[in-house]
Amino acid sequence: MNKKTLKDINFENKKVIVRLDFNVPIENNKITDDTRIKAALETIKYLQNHNAKIIMLSHLGRIKTEADKKTRSLSLVAKKLQELINHPVIFINETRGKNLETAVNKLKAKDLLLIENTRFEDLNGKKESKNDPELGKYWASLGEVFVNDAFGTAHRAHASNVGIATYIKDSCIGFLIEKELTMLNKVVINPERPFVAILGGAKVSDKIDVIKQLLTKADSVLIGGGMAYTFMKALGYKIGKSLVENDKVDLAKELINLGKDKLVLPVDYIAAPEFKDIKGTNTTDQNIADNLMGLDIGTKTEKLFQDKLKSAKTIVWNGPMGVFEMNNFAHGTKAICEAIANLKNAFSLIGGGDSAAAVTKFHYEKKVSFISTGGGASLEYLEGKDLPGITAIKNKN
Ligand code: ADP
Ligand code: MG
Repeated sequence: MNKKTLKDINFENKKVIVRLDFNVPIENNKITDDTRIKAALETIKYLQNHNAKIIMLSHLGRIKTEADKKTRSLSLVAKKLQELINHPVIFINETRGKNLETAVNKLKAKDLLLIENTRFEDLNGKKESKNDPELGKYWASLGEVFVNDAFGTAHRAHASNVGIATYIKDSCIGFLIEKELTMLNKVVINPERPFVAILGGAKVSDKIDVIKQLLTKADSVLIGGGMAYTFMKALGYKIGKSLVENDKVDLAKELINLGKDKLVLPVDYIAAPEFKDIKGTNTTDQNIADNLMGLDIGTKTEKLFQDKLKSAKTIVWNGPMGVFEMNNFAHGTKAICEAIANLKNAFSLIGGGDSAAAVTKFHYEKKVSFISTGGGASLEYLEGKDLPGITAIKNKN
């Protein structure tokens, strides 16, 4: 990796701006999952141990109206972080101004300061999300070094990542981004073979580029989930009322020609008359009757996919095999979890928010090698795209 990391920089007594991903779910004024805050601790503690004065930034949800500010303040995060790290956190309920500047100038080594939700600036002409140069410059002026450790937004060029990185003297990536890149590179650069990719989820259109890219890199690409039916339609099978993107059928044909026998499609389905958590029926072949919709892969497909996974040394999985949120259509997704859990000496990477949620829901999170914390960012990296939030960071000398 040619980007500077924490170990490449001297932080002693410097004002260090750190972009973290504190975009946690909040319900009824309570944080319901603090995984992301915990994931940020290693970098924060390292900076404290190296006597930095720490100025933290993050976004939280989207801010479209003044009312959104009430439910999307980082004040709860400040409290939670203070608890988890066992050190006071100074919270500034503004994104700029005198108060903030005075507090920053008073910071001593090891102090922690958290600025309010960066997207509060989006009410002001989308300054954060459109990477307004004046805002990036202003935030950069608060410190001497920038650390980007927000992997989840690394695929976006915002003022709080790319903007600050552009206007500051020195910068590096934090431990979380470093880890994500190390793991993703095991898939992207010289993967151990056989390399099997599993793609599913709702729509082909979300994942065209990653399917194309993986067809050139992987030994097998297994397709399940809602996206499978557009491929089945392209092959002339009956798909009943299943999810389909009619404007992507030609593209699916192209991918089928491109992939040849690398591309593995389902051979049966669990289908039901409605999109409801009711017991479905296993189809006898690839066809689905007119009054039914496919909501999970069938038992023959589970076996077929498990068989393909048996000898795999590298696995990347993005997108559930069925509507796993409903008990009756979770079996296919669980079968993939099980197949990965049974592998020895294989590297498995789970990308995609819903796939990660499924793995955790079915308690396989310790049985896979790595679950990426950034769905969109990991997808774009697998597509071979640059992540602007990382590109903007200084290279190692
Ligand atoms: P990820 O977040 O892992 O990238 P996606 O967002 O692409 O995954 O897709 C996840 C969604 O796809 C889930 O909510 C799941 O219910 C839905 N899905 C999976 N299979 C089907 C299907 N056969 N019909 C409709 N929706 C499906
Ligand atoms: Mg999703």
